[in-house]
Amino acid sequence: MKIRKGDIVLVMAGKDRGKKGKVRFAYPKDERLLIEGINIRKRHARARGTTRQAGIIELETPIHVSNVMLVCSKCNHPTRIGFRFLGDGRKVRLCRSCSEVID
Ligand SMILES: [Zn+2]
Repeated sequence: MKIRKGDIVLVMAGKDRGKKGKVRFAYPKDERLLIEGINIRKRHARARGTTRQAGIIELETPIHVSNVMLVCSKCNHPTRIGFRFLGDGRKVRLCRSCSEVID
């Protein structure tokens, strides 16, 4: 996955287009991301006995990784990501705008 937990991303599609948020969880298998404050669904909950209160629950739901761009932590621009191998064989992410290593 190009985007990981803790990254700041810019949403490119959907009702939250143009918003930025921090990735709370990444689901590499589904290529989806759970982002703080993004793609909130409201659910109306009914009271069940004494354990749950009635009301509206706001729930963040994951969005597909193709709908976001990484915001570079170095130059602060939304950017595409490249990869580079370091001398020790480690693979690191690269900002295509400023060419800095992001990891
Ligand atoms: Zn950059």
